[in-house]
Amino acid sequence: MDRACSPLVQTLQSSPNFEPRRGKTRADMLILHYTGMMSAPRVVAWFANPASRLSSHYVIDDDGRITQMVSEADRAWHAGVGSWAGETDINSASIGIEIQNPGHDLGYPEFNPTQMAAVTALSLDIVTRNAIPPTRVLAHSDVSPGRKIDPGEKFDWRGLHAKGVGHWVEPAPLDETDDGLGTGATDARIARATELLARYGYGITPSPTLDVAAARVVRSFQLHFRPARPDGRLDHSTLETLEALVASADAVA
Ligand SMILES: [Zn+2]
Repeated sequence: MDRACSPLVQTLQSSPNFEPRRGKTRADMLILHYTGMMSAPRVVAWFANPASRLSSHYVIDDDGRITQMVSEADRAWHAGVGSWAGETDINSASIGIEIQNPGHDLGYPEFNPTQMAAVTALSLDIVTRNAIPPTRVLAHSDVSPGRKIDPGEKFDWRGLHAKGVGHWVEPAPLDETDDGLGTGATDARIARATELLARYGYGITPSPTLDVAAARVVRSFQLHFRPARPDGRLDHSTLETLEALVASADAVA
């Protein structure tokens, strides 16, 4: 692993769980995850084990320590089944960072500032060296709605954007009296939202009816871009945020 390695890496620990990228020579997406395990050393050990069939390019501990496990030139096994903007082999298209956090099933603590500084520095280095556009810096939950919810609503996408990584617009304020439209509802606003979500890149078929799959995509959008209430219901704040995000996408892509 002597190439495609970030200078910010403190530790190299090879994983056997990778292969050449399929149909691509380099990544054009960055996918952020949380580990969902109790400690980063356990994650690194698991990814180093051939039995796990899992890996990522980088693992960031909660003290900010960065371990590289797979060369950026290769296809790590971090994303699984998913899609974005017509791409269905997310692993071949992306670089993956696993951020230590035990996740929603184990208390879901805050991402601390030291760890976030490391996430920011590494992300900035990766998107700069690989010319990854801001709109292709994504959550695992963006590319695998319903199946994945990481890194979740506590992840500081706003702060990351402020340092030059990813796409962000300030979310429209939450209206506590607006419960939004839920699964099974049919409405012109749902047709509009699903059309915008599909245009932005989410794997969704535009429709005026909010089916279960569409509600999962709405939740994924909220987890990333309107984190105050990630409930999968289409309220005005969500639609307004989505309109603003898509309107500004062309300028940054
Ligand atoms: Zn993940």
